[in-house]
Amino acid sequence: ELSDDRCGIGHLGFLGMVIAIDGPAGAGKSSVARAVAQQLGIAYLDTGAMYRCVGLLVARDGVDPDDAEAAFRHAHEADFDLGGGLIRLNGEDVGALIRGSEASECASRVAAHPQVRDEIVLRQQAIIRGGDWVADGRDVGTRIAPAAELKLYLRASVEERARRRAAEGDQPDQLIAAEIAARDERDERRPEGHPAADAIELDTTEMTIDEVIAAVVDLARARGLVDAG
Ligand code: C5P
Repeated sequence: ELSDDRCGIGHLGFLGMVIAIDGPAGAGKSSVARAVAQQLGIAYLDTGAMYRCVGLLVARDGVDPDDAEAAFRHAHEADFDLGGGLIRLNGEDVGALIRGSEASECASRVAAHPQVRDEIVLRQQAIIRGGDWVADGRDVGTRIAPAAELKLYLRASVEERARRRAAEGDQPDQLIAAEIAARDERDERRPEGHPAADAIELDTTEMTIDEVIAAVVDLARARGLVDAG
C-alpha cells in the first residue's frame, strides 16, 4: 500500500514513479505504454529497443548472437540515446532498422545471455532513476524497477498478437505467428519471462488498444499516481 505521503512525493516527482508494462511479444505493450506516458505527461522507456540495438550491432558485425562474450562487448560499448522519441545507437538513428525481423531475432538471442542482461538492466536503471516513467518490456516489474508503483502484465493469444503485428507491417499473419511462437518459447524459458508476483495481469485478446490504455490510466488514478480529474 502507498501512504498519502509517498503518493504526494511521487507525484511531485522528487522520488520518481514507475509504471511497468510487461508481457510477451506483440501484446501491445509499446502502443499502450507510449500512450499512457503521453496522457500522464511523463517519459516513456522502450526497454526492448536496447536489446534490439545490441542485436543489430551483433548482426552487422557478423558475429553469432549466441556468442555471449561478443554480445556483451557490444552491449557494454554501445552508446544508447533514447530521448525525444528517437532511438540513437552510437549517434545513428536506428528506429526503423531495429524493427526488422533479423534484428528482432538477434535481440531475443542476445537477451538470453545473463551478462548482456545485467549490463542492459544497469543502464536502464540509470536512465529511470529519480524520474517519472512508463517502461515496457519483459523484466521491468521484476528486475529493472521491482519497486514500481504500478505493474501490468499484458497477455493476448498468439493469433491476436500476430494479427496486431501484421496490421503494422506487410508480413502475413502465419509467418509472424510462427516468429512470435519461437520468440515466446525462448523468452518464456527465462525467469524474466514471467509476471512479477504483484503485477496485475490483463488479457487483452478481446480488447482494443484504447480500452487497454484507459484501463491502465484508471489503475494509475486508483493508486493515486495521477490527479483524479
Ligand atoms: O519488446 P521487444 O519485442 O522490442 O523486445 C525485443 C526482444 O528483447 C524480446 O524478444 C526479448 O527477448 C528482449 N527483451 C528482454 N527484456 C526486455 C525487453 C526485451 O529480454 N525488458
